Parts: sequence; C-alpha cells; structure tokens
Amino acid sequence: MNSTCRLVTRAIVLVLALAASAAAQQVDWSKKALQSERSRTYDALHYRIAIRLNLDQQSFDGETTVTLTALGDGLETVVLDAEEFTVTKVVSEWGEPLEFTQSDKALAVRMPQPLKRGETRSFTCSYHGENPKAGLRFVAESADNPRLVFSDSWPDRVHHWFPCFDYPNDKVTNEILATVSADLKVGANGRLVSVVENKAAGTVTYHWSQDLPHSTYLIFLAAAPYVVVHDAYGTLPVNYWVYPQDEKKVVPTYGKTPKMIEYFNRTFGYDYPWQKYDQISVPSGGGAESTSATAMTHRIMVDEKNESEFSAVGIVSHELAHQWWGDLITLRSWAHTWLNESFGTYSDYLYFHYDKGGDEGALNLQGKLNSYLREAKTRYVRPIVSDRYDQPGDMFDSHTYPKGALVLHMLRDLLGDAAFFDTLKHFLHRYAFDAVDTSDFIRSVKTVTGQNLDWFFDQWLFKPGHPIFDVRSDWDLARKMVTLKVTQVQDFTRGIPVFRVPVVVAIVTAAGKSTRTVWVRDREETFEFPSQTRPLLVRFDEGNILIKEVTFPKEHDELLYQLAHDDVIGRMSAAAELLRFKDDPKSFDALAVSAQGDPFWAVRRGAVEALARLAEPRRAAILTKTALDRHASVRTASLVALGDLKDRGLVDVFKERFAKDGSDAVRAESLRAIGKAGDRSTIPFLEVCAAVGSFRNMIATAAKQAIASVESQKQP
Ligand SMILES: [Zn+2]
Repeated sequence: MNSTCRLVTRAIVLVLALAASAAAQQVDWSKKALQSERSRTYDALHYRIAIRLNLDQQSFDGETTVTLTALGDGLETVVLDAEEFTVTKVVSEWGEPLEFTQSDKALAVRMPQPLKRGETRSFTCSYHGENPKAGLRFVAESADNPRLVFSDSWPDRVHHWFPCFDYPNDKVTNEILATVSADLKVGANGRLVSVVENKAAGTVTYHWSQDLPHSTYLIFLAAAPYVVVHDAYGTLPVNYWVYPQDEKKVVPTYGKTPKMIEYFNRTFGYDYPWQKYDQISVPSGGGAESTSATAMTHRIMVDEKNESEFSAVGIVSHELAHQWWGDLITLRSWAHTWLNESFGTYSDYLYFHYDKGGDEGALNLQGKLNSYLREAKTRYVRPIVSDRYDQPGDMFDSHTYPKGALVLHMLRDLLGDAAFFDTLKHFLHRYAFDAVDTSDFIRSVKTVTGQNLDWFFDQWLFKPGHPIFDVRSDWDLARKMVTLKVTQVQDFTRGIPVFRVPVVVAIVTAAGKSTRTVWVRDREETFEFPSQTRPLLVRFDEGNILIKEVTFPKEHDELLYQLAHDDVIGRMSAAAELLRFKDDPKSFDALAVSAQGDPFWAVRRGAVEALARLAEPRRAAILTKTALDRHASVRTASLVALGDLKDRGLVDVFKERFAKDGSDAVRAESLRAIGKAGDRSTIPFLEVCAAVGSFRNMIATAAKQAIASVESQKQP
C-alpha cells in the first residue's frame, strides 16, 4: 500500500549463491517498540463528512457527524483522534451544544448523560484547517499534474481531516459531501449519490456514500480537473480518473482491469465486494487501495510504445487485489500487515502468471525472492508477524511484501491448489467486512484442510530468516548412486531456526528426468538417489518453491548442460555461474548461443550480462547482434555492455540504435553508451537529444548524463 506499493520493475538482479556469512545487520529489530492492538470504548458506526476544500488557500472547513455505540456502561466522554484542525463547535443530534476539549492529537466530547453499553448516539463537529502537513495534500500545478487536492490517509492520518477513531480494527460506513470549485471533479469511496452545482458560489458538491463497512485509513477523496473514462465488468462500473493530458494512455495502462476482476472473482471464490471500481490518478509515490477507489500514482501512466517494458499490470493487479485483501478483510493491527500486503503481492504474481505464462511467472517470483534476500542480507531479518515496530510504516518492507508472498507460494505447494484456494475462499467469506489477525488465517487453514501446520507458520511467520543450504552431490559408479549432502549453514543466532522443508530433487540423465521429494529437517542430512549413469544435471528445489539461498558447486559440463536445458531460473543461474569458468572458450560459446537463441528474454539478457564480463575479442560482434534482440531489455543490457567497452568506433552503432529503436529506454541507453565512449565531437548531437520528449523523460536525462560523462573524460 502507498509508497511501499512499488511499481513492478523488470530489473531482476540474479542473486548469486552466497556463502553462509552472517550478513551485516544494520537494524536491530528487537530494539523496536513493543506494540499492541488498540482498545476501544465505543464502536464507531458511521461518519458523515461534509467538507469544503479551498485550493487557493489550501484550507478546509468540515462538519463531520459521528455515530457510535458505547461498548461499556458509563461512557461519559468520547475521545476521537483529531489533529491539525481547530474544532469550533460540537452539537448533539438534537442540536444542543456539547462540551468538548481539544489537545494536539485528540478531541474529547462530553456526552449529556453517560452512555450505557449498546446505546447509540450521534453528534456533529465543526472545524477549520489550513496547510495540513498530513492527511490532505494540496498540490500545485506542475508539468506532470494539474492543481489538485487528495487525501493521503494511510496508515493513520485520516484524523488529520476529520475527527474519528483512526485505527483499522474499527470498521465504519461513511459519506463524503465534498464542495470544491466547479471546474473540479471529486472521486471517493462507494456510490455517487448526487452532484449539485451551486451556481452563485461557483462550486459543486459531490455526495458519495460508502454503504458497506471498511476501515478508516481506506476513506478517500480526490479533487482535480479529471477526465473520467468509463469501462465496466458486466454490470460493475469500472472507471479511470486521469489528468486530461493522460487520456490516451488509459488503455495501455488500465485496459486489463475488467479481465483482472474476472480472474480474481474466480480465483478468490468471492465476487468483487464493492459498488464500483475507480482508479484515480494522484501525484504520490505508489498506489493506495482505498475502498472501491484506488489512488494511483500518475507515474504508472504509460503509452502503447513503452508498455512492454513499463507495464502497469503489476501495480494495477496488486491494488485491485487489495479490494479483497485489505479492504474486505483488514489487518486488525499493523503486526499483521502481511494479511494485506503478502496476499496483495501474491495476487499480483497470480495474475501475472495467468496473463503472461509460466516463464514470466517464475521470473516474477525470482524477482520477489531477490528483493527479500537483498533486505535480509543488507539490512535485517525479522519475523513477518511482529509486534515490534516504531511506526506502522516499518512493517511495509520486503519481508511483508515479497517474503510473505513466497510463504503463501510455499503453503500452496504444501496444500495443493484445491485446498489452498478453498482456504482463501473460506477466509474471505468467514471474515468479510471484519478485521483479522494471523490466528484467523491459521484457523481457516485448519478448518478447510484439517491440517495442523503450526510448525510451518512458526518458522516462516513467527521466526526470522531463511535456510541457507550448502549442497554437494556425488555419483558413485560402483553403487550407481547419487549422494546429495545438504547442510543448513545459516547463522542460528537471533532466533533463526533449523528449517523443516520439503525439497524436490531432480536427477537428469540421458534416459530422462526423475524427481523425488525429500524432507530436510536437520542441520546436516544425506540423501541417496539411484542413477545408472552419471547425471547430466542434479537439481535442488526443482520448481523453485523455497525461500532460500543455496551454494551448489557444479562441474563445467553440468553448467553447460543446465544453460541449454533447465527451466528459466536454472538457465539464468547457469549463465551467471559459468563465470567461474571464464577462461574456458566453451563458456563463451555457450553463452553466445544462449544470448542469441534462448527462447526466453531474461535468459538471453542474463547471458548478455555474463558475456560482458568475459575478456573475449569476439564479444563486441555478439553484443552488436544482441543489441537488435526482439526484447527491449536484452537490447538495453547489450548497449550497457557495449558502452562499457568505451570504443569510439561503436558510436555510429549507438547513433543508429537511437535513431531506429522503438523503445525509449533503449534509446536512452544508446545515449549513455555514446557518453561512455567520451568523444567530444558527439556533444552537439547529445545536446539535440537532450530536448527530445520521452516516457518519464528518460531520453533527456540520459543525454545530460552522457554529456557529463564525455566532459569528465580526458580527450586524446
Ligand atoms: Zn499493497
């Protein structure tokens, strides 16, 4: 959610197997503050938020009616979260003034008589706010966006624009009646009740009603001169609210949304729960899954030509999936953030796999694994479910997003597809419109499958770390037997356990492939597999299911075989591992074949990156060919490698790529390659390029970098 909902990038860095050295831990998670779920004295039922937004003065005037039920006897004072606005008046539902006091962060309203448990009351607070630091963002016009205002309520900032109980364990219905100048349109949660023009004042009032309960951080509004493009999934309205300049990008950016709704309805076994689905452009860092009205960074808007490299499918499907995981059922406290974000992240993988096929799906999961491992190796390891955090935002990291998604993938592998997806369906139906914690999910697994997987959740959710395997294989000619020695070599301090995992081992010979699942339970174990001949390939974790690091040294011949024959993850791994044999010409030959001929683009790119590191005179010729690959990422990688040769003789090749390539990223890389060559006579050409418009201004940025690069180099 929010800035942590990253755009899906294609920059997959292949993680080489690391030795089991304890990574430098820059953050000591155990020093974080101990948190617990917030208690309540009342149950808020409904907020009716009437708000007048003045963009000129960056101010707002609100009248919010709070309806609530006491949860205990003798409730004399209702304390609401309220920050950055001044309350001027509070009146009861009968119009009588109520006593109140306001502090920095709270509004305390005295009830005329103490409320009894179960008693329901309403009162209305009037208030004024200016230049808010959080909650509402007034944004000036820029080249990228028109002048606008939008709410930025996650994770606990909604009380900066109306008084409420601002914690996700309290679900409410709400209305928003937003008055803005008549040139703006207001998007918000739920159904549009009315749009009323106030001609004399030059304003318009949008009345939205969210009739089904949700958590307060999901309450949203945005006002801008939007163009609203209408689409639908059956009778469900699907709308795209974009800035006028982005209207032509709607189809490449959002066009698959109805297909995604259809896919998630089927996959989750629960039809899309809300009255409509809007995606609304805002100038933020990522997406925020406000109920039925996702706030989406305008940076995802992409044209047809750049769609294949900068597809919005990842973030669009992720935010859509939150309409179930996060909005329909919601984390009860931030300790359980994974119930929103791991499920959202696994869902974006599910759709990606469905939309683009198995190889792309495998690459997507590998990217998620690499992203978690980077955090684990450079920053910290922590339990995914943790009641230690200084801010809720601490929980929105690469443990919650990718690692949690991979935990769900392992759970699916363990349960089988039918039981796994039945569990998801049960979990949604059992807890719809409610707040949940991890024990609710574990109970759903038990209810649906009958299996007690406490050991699985204990090691993957409640303990930190992951297994780091050292694997050695040997074939015994006399016994016709492959011996596989598996050692867990992770650092066992800080609560990191010895992991218990099923692993699929594949033995490939000329006769074919045989697979067997073995259970690794101890620090050191040895397994045996009969094999009449020396295997061509021994594969540990066939199917790439586990969260793991592995060191598994292979002979040169085995790597050459793996590069040509294994699955995409194995082929990419072999391309990188072949650098251990960089002086053997067979490595170059095999990588050259792979770089030009592998059916999957990411393997070709991996081979290009490996070739770039071989000091072989033939490599420039190969890279010049791969710079014409059908996939832009391979062309970009080739230009990076060619540029690193710093060969002025290649400048014409780069200029031609700039002139002819259809991809802005490739064209930008060709300019950087010219810059690396360092020829001062190219500066006038680069200066012209610096004025060329492109997606995210990539070409102009690269041209300026290239000029700086030329100027920093000595001329002959
Ligand atoms: Zn998310």
